[in-house]
Amino acid sequence: MTAPLTIIGSGMAGIGLLKQLRALDAERAITLITADSGDDYSKPLLSTGFAKRLPPERLAARSALEVADQLGAVVRTRTRIDAVDPTGRCLHIGEERLAWGELVLATGAAPAVPFDIPEGLAGRVFTINDLDDYRAFHAALEALGRRARVAIVGAGLVGCEFANDLIAGGHAVSLVAPEHAPLPRLLPEPLGRALGEAFSEAGMVLYLGRGLARLEASGSDVGVTLDDGERLEADLVLVATGLRPRSELARAAGLQVGVAGIQVDRYLQTSAPGIHALGDVACVDGVNAMYVQPLQASAKALARTLSGTPTEVSYGAWPVLVKTPLLPVVALPPLSAPARWRVEGEGTDLAAFAEDQDERLIGFALTGACVKRKVELARAAPPLLG
Ligand code: FAD
Repeated sequence: MTAPLTIIGSGMAGIGLLKQLRALDAERAITLITADSGDDYSKPLLSTGFAKRLPPERLAARSALEVADQLGAVVRTRTRIDAVDPTGRCLHIGEERLAWGELVLATGAAPAVPFDIPEGLAGRVFTINDLDDYRAFHAALEALGRRARVAIVGAGLVGCEFANDLIAGGHAVSLVAPEHAPLPRLLPEPLGRALGEAFSEAGMVLYLGRGLARLEASGSDVGVTLDDGERLEADLVLVATGLRPRSELARAAGLQVGVAGIQVDRYLQTSAPGIHALGDVACVDGVNAMYVQPLQASAKALARTLSGTPTEVSYGAWPVLVKTPLLPVVALPPLSAPARWRVEGEGTDLAAFAEDQDERLIGFALTGACVKRKVELARAAPPLLG
């Protein structure tokens, strides 16, 4: 019997690829192995659940059992792969050795927390990067049984979306970040400040331009001390200080890996024969976009390649829609530093154009009423991966 095509990871990349493969081939033996519950869920919904008071079970579209049944795959949940052997073509799971025919790494990205979290704060300091994390944070909020004081560390996409969602859910939110305005990687500062104003008007307390010095237990509270000495007290802390591709398995197996993830070509092929990668863990021809549209395009292309039709992936000029209803934000960050940002508009309705030295549009950012320009501008901007 030939060894199955094996996918590691049940995020949107892993399950998305499984769906695409099944659409092309109903018979092929496929095994999907995941360290988590294996539930099929949409990760972007995690940062919309608290406003709607959604219990975790409402976020899962189907269980791992249903995935296995409906997509005709062997699904192993709560199973962490310890190592990949590219020569022996097998996976190490403890003492077990599991053969693969073709292997796909869809191991995603993990929260990067640049400071120590004291042990005594377990259950009060969280990151939310998957449904299990959402379950844990949701349970902590429920256990409080009242309006929580939540301090969020980090004002990137994840921090800002949770800040907006938690305040809309009736909680008291503080946002701490060393940058002077929210969404520093997506927005030029005037637009970031507009988002900060919308947050402040909604009652959020912003501690910007200041980093975190330490977290410590303070009775039943968490003491959050900033690097200028100011201190706030919170019931719960949510750390949203960025994500790092989970490329350890690939690195240990000797595959080519960079800071932006496992290096793959446009066929999603790694440097090792028979091993492909996609999603947040993969840096495709120099680009790791870490958004849903690129991984969906990758899943489609890779399913065709693995089904016998080699297909290159390409990405369009796909802007990011940030889920901050207090002030809608859309951004297509430029791939290289722009020569200038040109900003138009008034109040919180702003449009910013990233231009190169020849005044060509290479990215844009929009807030408020200006988000309606996203289609027109996306048509004029260069693709992420042409
Ligand atoms: P993951 O979802 O991280 O899945 C990785 C999988 O690999 C998991 O199942 C994990 O258990 C498994 N795994 C890892 N290591 C091992 C191992 N050793 N053994 C076995 N299994 C392993 N993008 C958008 O486009 N729009 C949005 O609005 C948006 N909102 C977001 C909101 C939040 C809060 C977050 C965190 C992200 C958001 N994103 C959004 C980004 C998008 O959700 C991600 O790009 C995407 O979900 C990544 O999917 P993935 O399958 O690559 O990784």
